[in-house]
Amino acid sequence: MRSLTDQHGRVVRDLRVSVTPRCNFKCTYCDPLGMGHQEPVGTVSVADVDHVVRAGAGLGLESVRFTGGEPLLRQELPEMIYNAKRTPGIHDVAITTNASLLKRRLPELLAAGMDRVNISLDAIDPEAFRLATGGSIKQVWEGIMAVMEAGLHPVKLNAVVIRGINDGELIRLAKLTEQLPIHMRYIEYMHLNNAGAEEYQRSFMPGREIRARVEAALGELTPVPTDPSAPARLFKVPGWQGAIGFINPVSEPFCGACSRMRLTSDARLRPCLLTDRELDVREALIAPDPIPAIQEQFLIAAHRKVASGITTPLERPRTMVAIGG
Ligand code: SAM
Ligand code: SF4
Repeated sequence: MRSLTDQHGRVVRDLRVSVTPRCNFKCTYCDPLGMGHQEPVGTVSVADVDHVVRAGAGLGLESVRFTGGEPLLRQELPEMIYNAKRTPGIHDVAITTNASLLKRRLPELLAAGMDRVNISLDAIDPEAFRLATGGSIKQVWEGIMAVMEAGLHPVKLNAVVIRGINDGELIRLAKLTEQLPIHMRYIEYMHLNNAGAEEYQRSFMPGREIRARVEAALGELTPVPTDPSAPARLFKVPGWQGAIGFINPVSEPFCGACSRMRLTSDARLRPCLLTDRELDVREALIAPDPIPAIQEQFLIAAHRKVASGITTPLERPRTMVAIGG
């Protein structure tokens, strides 16, 4: 079997699929399209996603994560999960969600075979949460409790830390790990196309400062052995149930261990988050024999993965919603 190995020897095993650019939240660091009544023209269909996942699995892809935008706005998400779960070679199917609709939709996601959930949680205090996301913590919290009760372990919670917006919530978030067996992970704010340079510099908080603040409040953290290809470095407060993680894509880019590829909501393969070297797979999707045609695109995309962090500005900047964070 041909495999998706790039020219730096890294094997691509994980596919992130943005199933919609729409979102019902307005996080300060993101740039969602808003709700709209329907998906924009050209958004990937259930069949498109199925073909891309099958093509990738034929080249050694092992896991798929559905994201967006807000993936739970996509009615057909359970169908996509069901198809991915039944694709030979794919053994892990997950979603990344803001959890606002999670409690309501969880039964159909579980019935489709979803394995895991990552949830964005930027704050716990209701006012701080509203300031950071424009949404309501109540529904999100109910969603978090619902997945925990369903036994999907580990539930990973992610907070993008923005100075002046949610840095006052760092300790409250870390304290969740005292009683809950969750992973609470802090993500460094990445400069995509949504803020001016000065505003970004003011808002960015490096992972080492976040960790220093957590340790100043809770004592020294002890390292937890972690899969080297995982983006988070994990730690614990000794004796507490959960783990605290740091994802530092800006100050400590993890390109060297990257095993990821992305399918954007408008059907482009994106080899790296920080480059705009995308490949349109539309033609391959309508080819008489789409699977080998898409596989050719996968192989080209794998060759376009870069070795390490990019410093040149993007020609075609896009925020996370279409790319699939
Ligand atoms: N709506 C879902 C959610 O918020 O979990 C899924 C899509 S969201 C774009 C996926 C992830 O990207 C979230 O964890 C979010 O916090 C992260 N993200 C978005 N913009 C970011 C930025 N500028 N820097 C760092 N992470 C970002
Ligand atoms: Fe929506 Fe997720 Fe972006 Fe927040 S991070 S605006 S929830 S897509």
